[in-house]
Amino acid sequence: MAVESPIKGAARSGVQTVRNYVGGAWGAWAGPTLDVTNPATGDTIARVPVSTAEDVDRAAIAAQDAFPAWRDTPPLDRAKYLFTLRDLMVRHSEEMARLVTTEHGKTLPDARGSVQRAIENVEVAAGIPTLMMGYGLENGAGREIDEEAVRRPLGVFAAVGPFNFPAMVPFWFLPYAVATGNTFIVKPSEQVPLTQSFIFDLLHEAGFPAGVVNLVNGDKTTVDALLDHPTIKGISFVGSTPVARYIYARAAATGKRVQAAGGAKNMMVVMPDAVIDKTVANVVNSAYGSGGQRCLAGSVLVPVGSAHERVRDALAAAVRAIRVGNGLDEGVDLGPVISPTARERILTAIAHGQADGATLLAGGEAASVSGYPGGYYVQPTLFDNVTPGMGLARDEIFGPVLAIMPTATLDEAIGYIHDTPYGNAASIFTQHGGWAREFAYRCDVGNVGVNIGVAAPMAYFPFGGARDSFFGTQHGQGRDAIDFFCDRKIVIRRWFHEDGADQGKHW
Ligand code: NAD
Repeated sequence: MAVESPIKGAARSGVQTVRNYVGGAWGAWAGPTLDVTNPATGDTIARVPVSTAEDVDRAAIAAQDAFPAWRDTPPLDRAKYLFTLRDLMVRHSEEMARLVTTEHGKTLPDARGSVQRAIENVEVAAGIPTLMMGYGLENGAGREIDEEAVRRPLGVFAAVGPFNFPAMVPFWFLPYAVATGNTFIVKPSEQVPLTQSFIFDLLHEAGFPAGVVNLVNGDKTTVDALLDHPTIKGISFVGSTPVARYIYARAAATGKRVQAAGGAKNMMVVMPDAVIDKTVANVVNSAYGSGGQRCLAGSVLVPVGSAHERVRDALAAAVRAIRVGNGLDEGVDLGPVISPTARERILTAIAHGQADGATLLAGGEAASVSGYPGGYYVQPTLFDNVTPGMGLARDEIFGPVLAIMPTATLDEAIGYIHDTPYGNAASIFTQHGGWAREFAYRCDVGNVGVNIGVAAPMAYFPFGGARDSFFGTQHGQGRDAIDFFCDRKIVIRRWFHEDGADQGKHW
């Protein structure tokens, strides 16, 4: 019988408390909570538990108890749960997208795209019998001694998510972790817990055995308990760089595997031969899509030489045409940012940009949206004449702000990319194959776009960054995820024959 969470259940009115899902059941919650708001309205829409070390312990025990039987379940049978989950997610994708928009603020088309990305990870992970195969070599260790490498799951893993992709980011990990035979705990961002609650109802409906997937809500307290728990074998983290660095060190201290993705400051280089209308459309989507709150968002535009004049006016016109509003409403291009704190941080960065002498071409203030006086809106903002020393050129802003930083050569542009400690993504817009090749070769970043503003890897490619944008070895998604969630065990096999045994004998 389906157990309803407070989110997907019938009684959706009123402010309800999200619950944890542990050992196949939704638990009641009487402890401390935090408010969850709809950033488009400022209304409190739910409360989220702040789970303690005891709550994490219960989830870890449930996951550990479920591990032996789940590991014994043949990979093809584990994949069948993913097929069922995939169908449920497709059937409920519009509800999920609306929930993403409601708790995050991004527009519905953006939210739909992110839900689609989550589903694609389930589809890829369903190929687990092939993905997880090991390899062997006859006589690999000597005459009549065969050697084989098998991939095996390790036990309990956990993921800690950021606020900006409530559906997608935990799904860079969960489908692969359970497909490989591990059991799993998700700790979503406390700012956006509703979508994962909804998805956990679908996981329940898909029939995953109790304890295979668990949901524990909370904040830093909860994360620390996950990091320190002796049963948990590995942590997948996505969030800001200071926290990623902390996660990497603290989880490693207890011998865990860690993959920790951090923040970004992505640059988009426009060469003089770029096709301007298409470039501008890509740049606008990159900088302002999802409210500029994407780890792959372009936040600095670097026009080379004459590209500056060609791109500046077209871009300013496009930015001024962006319609700000509630992402659930038709015709809205840009929703709110996640919180009043985020809005303050973004407005402060804008003020510093003005004080530093950058030229404001569009926006620059909080936006007011008719009918939603409590929403956390920021005008789409565009600066020109930014120079490398300014905060606009170096610091992650994570809001709808784009800085144009003109330069004379491609060489200088690549230098600017390496002046920031981040290495998530960089794009080049050009028709010149040689320039594009040089750019892709030299940029020390995790993802390069050629005439693509958001170089987001598909589910079968690894998702991660370089330098201070990623700590660890294996990235999320695809084969990297399989390697992260599996150990490689070597089996070396030799058969002895009793002296005098007739090997040709038939019994
Ligand atoms: P955040 O670092 O504030 O929080 C991320 C998660 O960590 C949350 O679940 C939160 O509860 C937890 N957390 C926060 N502070 C903590 C602490 N001190 N100790 C332990 N846990 C803590 O990040 P955010 O604001 O939710 O997300 C935005 C950031 O994530 C941006 O910097 C963005 O670039 C980054 N991001 C990176 C990628 C990527 O692939 N590199 C993808 C998405 C987002």
